[in-house]
Amino acid sequence: MTGFDDISTRLDSLARHDMYRRRKIIGGPQGRQLAIDGRLLLNFCSNDYLGLAADARIRDAFKAGVDDWGVGAGASHLVCGHTAAHHELEDALAAFTGRARALLFSSGYAANLGVIGALAGKGDNVFEDRLNHASLIDGGRGSRADFNWFAHRDMADLDHQLSASGDPGGRKLVVSDGTFSMDGDRCLLDEMIPVAHRHGAWIMIDDAHGLGVHGREGRGLVEPDKYSTADVPLLMGTFGKAFGTFGAFVAADEPVIEMLIQRARNYIYTTALPSAIAVATLKSLAIVRDEEWRREALRDRIDQFRAGATGMGFELLPSDSPVQPIVIGDPRRTLDFSTRLEEHGCLVTAIRPPTVPVGTSRLRVTLTAAHSADDVDRLLSALDSVNQALGE
Ligand SMILES: *Cc1c(COP(=O)(O)O)cnc(C)c1O
Repeated sequence: MTGFDDISTRLDSLARHDMYRRRKIIGGPQGRQLAIDGRLLLNFCSNDYLGLAADARIRDAFKAGVDDWGVGAGASHLVCGHTAAHHELEDALAAFTGRARALLFSSGYAANLGVIGALAGKGDNVFEDRLNHASLIDGGRGSRADFNWFAHRDMADLDHQLSASGDPGGRKLVVSDGTFSMDGDRCLLDEMIPVAHRHGAWIMIDDAHGLGVHGREGRGLVEPDKYSTADVPLLMGTFGKAFGTFGAFVAADEPVIEMLIQRARNYIYTTALPSAIAVATLKSLAIVRDEEWRREALRDRIDQFRAGATGMGFELLPSDSPVQPIVIGDPRRTLDFSTRLEEHGCLVTAIRPPTVPVGTSRLRVTLTAAHSADDVDRLLSALDSVNQALGE
């Protein structure tokens, strides 16, 4: 007997509780349709909000990047993996976000662990929204700072938690998603800033789902014209969503970035992103900035979906983002719903605990600029049929 003998039992238990997770094997590039098992399904679950993941210009930039730089970065940034391509992207991101500097990380997950771990530790306090992304929670928990929850978008509770937290000498870091990944609603930044200021706390915003989508030229929730680094000292964004590539960055004042370079373990002890990814992302950044029509098309699809779904009696969450969840509650019913939508040609993933709180299993519908009005109509009529077939 070893301590690992219960793995199969645990897997059986996950299956019995409708919590078992399976991967689908996708047979082609991301887009409005996905090839699965030889069938083309309308894709309503990707985070490719602007429809750029397979964009021809970004593919070409990526290929040119491979020709210029090869594939592997060869080392971490601090050893000899930091190239002029990485550096150019960092400068462009700093300009885009209106911050002095930006620092690339190999993924958003790594960035969140690295940043929180480098800036908060023993004797400090981290304050996180109940619905924050797992990587922010793991970053806060792993930092060895005292971990405090505040109720979702509840600034009075945040204020209370900040008052109640002990050591006035320690650092206080308030951490929130910009656009919440599973609900699609936004952090109440205008209310959060004065609360944080009152307690001498710093704010870190993870805008993985807002960048490219909201704000002037896709700058997201933390628009530089509106929010300085005195308001939001730490801004994190990812490239795997609206930018259609891969990787992440943190934007901040000069000394903060320099401190991250010295101390962020997830920056120091990992291989740099391939330079070709940086070249592709630089192209993507220009497209995100310039092609306002993508955000307009996306907004039209979001409005169309919300009007249609609400008209059919679905209760939607207060989201004006491409994330438009339909909360079903029970995981079995959510899975059934998703399977039947697939039979109607629409791919919408069932999101279950622990990704979302128990009792709030949901269909996480996501819309993109690549969808046509017809695509959204097809989804709406599929939702209506399945809802009627499943009954109460
Ligand atoms: C996707 C996501 C991440 C992780 O980013 P990756 O680059 O995919 O690792 C972090 N935070 C939020 C809010 C996300 O949605």
